[in-house]
Amino acid sequence: MRRLPVYFLVDVSESMVGEPIKQVESGMRTIIQELRTDPYALETVYVSVIAFAGKAKSLSPLTELFKFYPPVFPVGGGTSLGKALDFLMDDIEQSVVKTTVEQKGDWKPIVFLFTDGNPTDDTTAAINRWNSKFKRRANIIAISIGDNVNTQLLGQVSDNVLRLTETDETSFKQFFKWVTDSIKTTSVSVSSQGVDEVKLAPTSGINLEKVDGTAPCKVDENFVVLLGKCPNTMKPYLVKYAKRLSKSEMVDDFNVLEFKLVGAYQIDEEQYNSLSDGKSNRNINTNNLVGAPTCPCCGNQWAMVICGECGQISCADNSGRCKCAWCGSEGSLGDIGSSGVDITRGRG
Ligand SMILES: [Zn+2]
Ligand SMILES: [Zn+2]
Repeated sequence: MRRLPVYFLVDVSESMVGEPIKQVESGMRTIIQELRTDPYALETVYVSVIAFAGKAKSLSPLTELFKFYPPVFPVGGGTSLGKALDFLMDDIEQSVVKTTVEQKGDWKPIVFLFTDGNPTDDTTAAINRWNSKFKRRANIIAISIGDNVNTQLLGQVSDNVLRLTETDETSFKQFFKWVTDSIKTTSVSVSSQGVDEVKLAPTSGINLEKVDGTAPCKVDENFVVLLGKCPNTMKPYLVKYAKRLSKSEMVDDFNVLEFKLVGAYQIDEEQYNSLSDGKSNRNINTNNLVGAPTCPCCGNQWAMVICGECGQISCADNSGRCKCAWCGSEGSLGDIGSSGVDITRGRG
């Protein structure tokens, strides 16, 4: 039997923490449930999930539908699209059966690439490898989650670049329905007509738009994500802020870039470290951050306490005393003053 391999190459960088990752997780469950009720899909579709941040890793090898168990997605630092593509190509090389003179191999794999940020690694070699060896062997559908992605770069590996313009729950649901429908239609056309090209479902009525992948695009930075550690539980957490423009109170008609608190999320340290590729060298001034969360690990009131010794972030309670979870130094809680302080950002 010829299989239809479907790969999900999912960006799990820090900016995906919280709601987006939850939506992707529940979306994956819906896709699988839906496909299982479809006789064509059930017969042909095999699913594989690869997560990538600073590094890439397989969350599920190519598995037939009824045995597939939707994974829990980790979070990591960085967005190494180059490494992710290399990982994908190695996997296709290993897992997908090639057509030769003696045998009919698998159908052309469909790859759904979901990403919400810009690569932090050099993608040139991987893109060249893709275009010289894989472009004709597989179809990539590249989806930009939000408007923070260099779609022109995605256009180098895919003729199907789309943008999910809204990221609320309903939009995500409709989007995953569209992914499911596209897989269904493709599995029908391979089974009944032997046609190997991907058949995308119509995007009308959903917040998904086709993007001209050859056109230059403006890339904004929508999120600041900071890594903290709780001295009570010794567990790490991410604090996420989203961009908003506000009129400065002091200068007329002068827009000030501010990042407003979205939330704080406990993360799995082992998974985080295994998916991250080193520290970032980008800073953000605390004056640009609006709002402070409580600690998602222990409930302490202040989860944005910056250590005077090492500059890293910990949590503290109301007692006025605090201990840094990173370097162990102890001190008293103080105000950072009007000029703010620069702190190291996550890898995005
Ligand atoms: Zn804590
Ligand atoms: Zn410290």
